Amino acid sequence: MPQLTRSAELFEKAKQFIPGGVNSPVRAFKSVGGTPVFMANGEGAYMTDVDGNTYIDYVGSWGPFILGSMHPKVTAALEHTLTKVGTSFGTPIELEIEIAELLTKIVPSIEMVRMVNSGTEATMSAVRLARGYTGRDKIIKFEGCYHGHGDSFLIKAGSGALTLGTPDSPGVTKGTANDTLNAKYNDIDSVKALVSENKDNVAAIIIEPVAGNTGVIPAKKEFLQDLRDYCTQEGIVLIFDEVMCGFRVALGGAQELYGITPDLTTMGKIIGGGLPVGAFGGKREIMEHIAPVGDVYQAGTLSGNPLAITAGLATLSVLKDENPYPELERKAAVLEEGFRNNMSKLGLNYTQNRVGSMACLFFTDKPVENHDDAVASDLQKYSRYYQSMLDQGIYLAPSQFEAMFTSTAHSDEDLEKTIKANYVALQAAE
Ligand code: PLP
Repeated sequence: MPQLTRSAELFEKAKQFIPGGVNSPVRAFKSVGGTPVFMANGEGAYMTDVDGNTYIDYVGSWGPFILGSMHPKVTAALEHTLTKVGTSFGTPIELEIEIAELLTKIVPSIEMVRMVNSGTEATMSAVRLARGYTGRDKIIKFEGCYHGHGDSFLIKAGSGALTLGTPDSPGVTKGTANDTLNAKYNDIDSVKALVSENKDNVAAIIIEPVAGNTGVIPAKKEFLQDLRDYCTQEGIVLIFDEVMCGFRVALGGAQELYGITPDLTTMGKIIGGGLPVGAFGGKREIMEHIAPVGDVYQAGTLSGNPLAITAGLATLSVLKDENPYPELERKAAVLEEGFRNNMSKLGLNYTQNRVGSMACLFFTDKPVENHDDAVASDLQKYSRYYQSMLDQGIYLAPSQFEAMFTSTAHSDEDLEKTIKANYVALQAAE
């Protein structure tokens, strides 16, 4: 069992100066208990904490590290920009065109794109744009989906909000909350009912096409196609929030995987290669409503920042040139099968959902197709499972409602070690 003496000391100190000791809530381990682990450094698939314990990392900075931490091509590119280019200009730079052009080539829906600094900025901006473009007020999201911490999205939200039991946040005004309608994931009738109740006043429907913030829940293809057709019929802007699944489930994201094209796409995580980046893009006809071409305002002091764009470009270039997706699929399938074999040896039958290298083991034996199914999971069992995995040097997301990410940096030995640890942790969970 790893000693977490220094982590515990740092956590006590952090709590004096930072609310809850963390800069993002799930990091505080509230739902799984125990001491949050303070990391000292990371490389590839590993992170080492301030007490000297090393972990195999399946959080990957919450998704960005599809190539593992400190990939040599990413760090070399960053070093070049840092020493030869500069950290910020606040003027247009050529790198911005490079990433924009690349995105139009690899993401099917993108004809034009704007870079921002986080996934939250991307979703907030995309929704404002959809409202400006349609002249309508309401948006529809799906219960348990998470689109960042913008006010409009903190209504029946997933991720940390769900983990902490605050899916509706105080501080969001009634007016804002009234403009956000929640439908049921994988249920087109629930969408149609909301649209008919709000006839001609729904600007956008935003969805994670592979939901990753209530655990992992793939959209059914038929449902996504129905949603696409229905949005076209009703003049509603369909937004795929691919902040997590973009460049993860396929190079062109879920829209490439499903062959269904939204009007707008929001991106984050992998697109920044570990630095703070987001982006939103889509149809030229809609994107040209943003200032300074159109009058929907959107801006950012550090948007298009050279270092951030460099890390993103380097990551996307590796993904494009080396096509690691079949290998990621193989590795994640090894884990899934290993966990399944363990469960069958132990007479357990928990549900695993997986799309490529995004996976989740739910502590329920029922299928998980929406938020209600996910919250039926046994969270006490997840906590015990989590602690046992951590004790064995496997770093998972400290919440049942998050994804487990495999990266190109995980070796076959890492996978084997993880499967062995899973066998022990499944027993500890019971
Ligand atoms: N959208 C999705 C699908 C996400 O998973 C997240 C973050 O987890 C966000 C938006 C918000 O991104 P950020 O945390 O970069 O603001």
